[in-house]
Amino acid sequence: MQTEKETRFMERAIELAKQGMQNGKGGPFGCVVVLGDEIIGEGCNMVTSSNDPTAHAEVVAIRNACTRLGTYQLTGCEIYASCEPCPMCLGAIYWARPERVIYANTREEAAAIEFDDDFIYHEINTKMADRKIPFVHYPHPGAKEAFDTWKNMADKVKY
Ligand SMILES: [Zn+2]
Repeated sequence: MQTEKETRFMERAIELAKQGMQNGKGGPFGCVVVLGDEIIGEGCNMVTSSNDPTAHAEVVAIRNACTRLGTYQLTGCEIYASCEPCPMCLGAIYWARPERVIYANTREEAAAIEFDDDFIYHEINTKMADRKIPFVHYPHPGAKEAFDTWKNMADKVKY
């Protein structure tokens, strides 16, 4: 059961998805970031128009909201996405730490129109060497050194 507020914000996310697609910005995905009763960030998919594979609607909206709020955290915010976020956006959302995510289309519905969301979710649970893009673990003392420096840094901004 959705509230009037949820319907209004979701319909704006869907409108952004349709507009972005029709204006040649990218795929049919839209997103809004809401704080209280106000939209503080909006985005549509801009992958093909900006030559940026990370320009998903959620990432665009999160960047937009964080710039507007002057912060790297979306504390107290809600994210409305026209489709279930892909693993990249899931990660971005966890880093931004909003309160809640509301989505319309599912990853299976995205797969049905040939988007990779569901495939990438499956890759997460696949052994690194068996992934379509293999991940190779190459431990290096210099990399560890960077971590140690961070661990001992007194004036760092934690996030
Ligand atoms: Zn995404």
